[in-house]
Amino acid sequence: MKLITLVAKIDIEKCTGCRTCEKVCPTIAIKIVNKKAVVDETLCRGCGNCNQRCPADAVSMEKLAEPYRVGVSIDDLPYNKIDELCQRASLNPEQIICYCTMTRAEEVAAAILKGAKSPEEISQQTGVRTGCKVECIQPVLRLLDAYGIKPVPPEGGYQWYGITPTIWDIPSEVKDKYNARGFYFEEDIRLLNEVKDTRKEAKR
Ligand code: SF4
Ligand code: SF4
Repeated sequence: MKLITLVAKIDIEKCTGCRTCEKVCPTIAIKIVNKKAVVDETLCRGCGNCNQRCPADAVSMEKLAEPYRVGVSIDDLPYNKIDELCQRASLNPEQIICYCTMTRAEEVAAAILKGAKSPEEISQQTGVRTGCKVECIQPVLRLLDAYGIKPVPPEGGYQWYGITPTIWDIPSEVKDKYNARGFYFEEDIRLLNEVKDTRKEAKR
């Protein structure tokens, strides 16, 4: 869940239509129309990426007169479905995966179970990836992958990268080889499984 307080505004006199902002927007809120950037304010989550990257200094961030929240409820889904999806992604549903918005894995899982099919749609609905824009892409991709969705970056976009393997993905022959050299894969997996399986809050 994120409180949206800012919105991007374009100075079309300065805009050169270079498409940089379109490529770096995590919610696909910007399109180039007639060689000028146009912001869909209903999709802008106020992250400032376009403002920071625009080479023509054509984007400003304005305060919203009426800030609003975006977020996805977990209360109208069977919690075991959310839990199962998080487990398949090797995530604890209660763990915070986006520290900029303090969003838990369970909320992103709920967004996917309710139909979000890409990191961009998840960002529109929950606000994740609209703070630092970097840290939470991996758990988002892992949850989509665990649901059977293989998202591809938006056409022409370069704001996210492929999924990174985790310790659960290391092949046994690699673990065997490096265990002998002082690595502790099995101990790490056991401890991480404990973290993954701990539940602080009783849910349905
Ligand atoms: S990055 Fe700036 S100059 Fe380039 S299209 Fe966007 S607003 Fe226009
Ligand atoms: S979400 Fe971020 S990058 Fe996209 S239009 Fe809004 S401020 Fe710009």
